Amino acid sequence: MKRLVSALILLTIFLAALVPTAAQSGASCKVGLEAPAFGFWNWSLHSTVRVYILIADFQSDEVPYLLAPVHNWNSVSEATGSGVKLLYAGSTSSPLLCENCLTIMRGHVFDKTGRHATELRAYSARQDQVITYASIVIDPALTNPKALAYAVAHELGHNFGLLDCFNCKEKSTVMNQFKFLNGSNDMAGPTACDIAQVKAAYKELARRVRPSPQTEDAGEEPIDDDTPIVVPRP
Ligand SMILES: [Zn+2]
Repeated sequence: MKRLVSALILLTIFLAALVPTAAQSGASCKVGLEAPAFGFWNWSLHSTVRVYILIADFQSDEVPYLLAPVHNWNSVSEATGSGVKLLYAGSTSSPLLCENCLTIMRGHVFDKTGRHATELRAYSARQDQVITYASIVIDPALTNPKALAYAVAHELGHNFGLLDCFNCKEKSTVMNQFKFLNGSNDMAGPTACDIAQVKAAYKELARRVRPSPQTEDAGEEPIDDDTPIVVPRP
């Protein structure tokens, strides 16, 4: 019996050694290649963010696609060290401006500059990088439900400090660009490299808080300028 227990302990140690640790998976996350840089907006450490959907803007069958990335980001709360809980709080008829409130809504953000398909509108009462309230605005041109999921997953990355990485390897990060408008990239949540970078972002946030990012800066377009935009036939 004792021998069996020892064998089981050894087997457990052996199996544990096969599972890559966060540090190991982070080691191959080169910024600009597999991982986005950070230094953007953040929800405050250990906050509970109430997520609302502006329900008149979406079809009922689109809602699960909006909530999947919320769930996926929420489930890595401990792994990233942010401690930020994303709690779906229900529907709303207008964007909510309460503390730690996030509204997911539609808006014509694509037409404005011809480059955006989604936009993060964040406000900080302290005029620093810590968000007081925010909205994720999705252009009506995004109709593919999987593209909606990718858009929310990407914009949530911007809520956790991540910047765009248009030149990153495919599927290495959710902060990459859409391959084409209304494409999905088949992603609805953060990758191992995204988790590693959010961890680094919150480590920095504990040491120093940057001023509010310039939301009109070049780091905001999920569609690359040089890529011809192809709208696939439905
Ligand atoms: Zn972006």
